[in-house]
Amino acid sequence: MFRKILIANRGEIACRIIKTARRLGVATVAVHSDVDAHALHVTLADQAVAIGGAAPKDSYLKGGAIIAAALETGAEAIHPGYGFLSENPDFVDAVQRAGLVFIGPSAKAIRAMGLKDAAKALMKQAGVPVVPGYHGANQDGAFLAEQAERIGYPVLIKAVAGGGGKGMRRVENAADFAEALRSARAEAANAFGNDAVLIEKYVSAPRHVEVQVFGDGRDAVHLFERDCSLQRRHQKVIEEAPAPGMTDEMRHAMGEAAVRAAKAIGYSGAGTIEFIVDGSEGLRPDRFWFMEMNTRLQVEHPVTEAVTGLDLVEWQLRVASGEPLPLRQEEIRLTGHAFEVRLYAEDVAAGFLPATGRLAHLAFPDHCRADTGVQSGDEISPWYDPMIAKIITHGPTRAIALSQLGRALDETQVAGTVTNLAFLSALARHRGFTRGEVDTGLIARDLASLMETPQNDRLESAMAAAAALHVAALPADPLTGFSLWSPLTRRITLETGADSIDVDLTMEGPQAARLRVVDQEFQAVCNGQNWTLARDVALKVVEADGLHVFAPGKTARFRRHDPLNRDASAGLGSDVTLAPMPGLVRAFFVIAGQEVQAGQPLCVLEAMKMEHMLKASRAGRVAEVFVREGAQIAAGDPLVQLAALEAGHG
Ligand code: ADP
Ligand code: ADP
Ligand code: MG
Repeated sequence: MFRKILIANRGEIACRIIKTARRLGVATVAVHSDVDAHALHVTLADQAVAIGGAAPKDSYLKGGAIIAAALETGAEAIHPGYGFLSENPDFVDAVQRAGLVFIGPSAKAIRAMGLKDAAKALMKQAGVPVVPGYHGANQDGAFLAEQAERIGYPVLIKAVAGGGGKGMRRVENAADFAEALRSARAEAANAFGNDAVLIEKYVSAPRHVEVQVFGDGRDAVHLFERDCSLQRRHQKVIEEAPAPGMTDEMRHAMGEAAVRAAKAIGYSGAGTIEFIVDGSEGLRPDRFWFMEMNTRLQVEHPVTEAVTGLDLVEWQLRVASGEPLPLRQEEIRLTGHAFEVRLYAEDVAAGFLPATGRLAHLAFPDHCRADTGVQSGDEISPWYDPMIAKIITHGPTRAIALSQLGRALDETQVAGTVTNLAFLSALARHRGFTRGEVDTGLIARDLASLMETPQNDRLESAMAAAAALHVAALPADPLTGFSLWSPLTRRITLETGADSIDVDLTMEGPQAARLRVVDQEFQAVCNGQNWTLARDVALKVVEADGLHVFAPGKTARFRRHDPLNRDASAGLGSDVTLAPMPGLVRAFFVIAGQEVQAGQPLCVLEAMKMEHMLKASRAGRVAEVFVREGAQIAAGDPLVQLAALEAGHG
């Protein structure tokens, strides 16, 4: 085993790798960018080396600086995590040239699987079923349109260098093909510097089922499947193992195909073979096809760890240090069921816009596994993936693991940024999902109902009452308490966004009070130390940049009333559309003087992995445009100003 390794990554995956290394007695070196100097992964590692600026290209993608840090600190091997340099064969070559071990597959294996077209050809040769389609070299538009016709609509256009769901377009009929091809190519050229595409049959009732494989360069085994069908825009949202409805026959067929794929390239380390499955008639051994191989540890590996009881990072370290595979195929067992959700700082209501912010408070229940790279007080910066944590539950059955997941989400507390927590909660309780009816279209179909925030006036009033009780700061000492009897009723005003809410607090004795919020009443009692609302649901109040009240599955934020504060927001007024996040202005659709309707697209902003459309909040006339196409902007920068329509225009 290695004595010391360097982790060329950040966030939750760096922290997760450090934990296993520590358990195995392996010392760790973290690398970090300037903005990550105090990040959790730096704190957890035995040593840390600063490698550059915030932008990934100035730090986490600087292979040379990372290798130099490893040599300087005496690390023997480099673990790349996922993302960043993990699937970069040139980096692997450089690591090896420096006399270090790359904890992952060979550069040759990564190259073989790097482009989807070449990987497909290779897999076909190895006897692994691949999706019917065209994955040849001819990139002529008319020729590709002919191929689409031959394959039969609907088809999927995919960037051969694609990843993260980018450069992909589903085309329903021939009339739409040319435009879809153009935009897929543009996106691919921009994201990957390679605009080559392939055409695939769009599988109906598609399910994404992938198989975890592990090789040691000589032999390979699989660690069963994960179902990642719950996706939004081709990106995974919830993953589980095993796949609902999986049969022994299908598992055997998929496992065999995956192992064949791994062996065909002499694979070493952890990898995933992704298959697309036609689930229109249940899971059938003749209805799955190879999509791509991810030659790294996958984001969702914890569900496999939960159902196998194995530590995949331990396996990575053992295999990379020269040991053979720790277990034979027949020794690997599957127990129970596991789920993972990806908790993101994102604004679901605003079209899942990535969000940033300082985490005033972050807490997870202890009955789940929470893999995170941040803690209370940390900043979710615009520089990196806005994932806050992965929450994983494991139970004896799917139903139990899923209800554990619902509960874990209810009890997760995040303050300081908007998150997709409520959305994940709604998903975990979705009827069809609960029954195991999954396909990649589920989220898009039911998006509206998944985004609804159930109204619960009683609970919302109780949360305001809890915040007011905190503001009142009643003394726990019964003697001082008496002084509060006069005046008998106090009014506490809280601010909630643009509105304010009045809570009337009446003392009813030294250790009892009554709070009135609109037309709801609550009793509060003092247990000798703390004042709490006398009701059965636990409400937690945290004061950090406002008052955050956490109830199961619900969070509310209040501010102490400050009469000066209310007018401050008037400034530019709501007529100015502000950038909701930092990003690049990809396209601008309006010019000064133009009349716009409510909801009319104003511009496209590119941030993180996605493009986001910003729309007019109301009808009006564009008074001023503040930015140009191609401009890099910060969150809160003004984009356009709308003026009212002149009288007569309605
Ligand atoms: P997985 O199947 O493991 O979820 P993804 O393709 O979604 O694989 O990517 C895994 C991780 O790799 C992401 O969380 C992200 O950090 C990184 N990543 C992948 N593609 C991109 C991309 N186009 N831009 C930025 N990061 C990416
Ligand atoms: P990426 O590299 O972006 O992860 P993939 O090839 O793995 O690209 O595809 C991403 C997702 O797109 C899949 O998980 C699946 O939901 C969908 N998808 C891919 N290929 C097909 C197909 N042939 N038919 C239907 N859906 C597909
Ligand atoms: Mg994929």
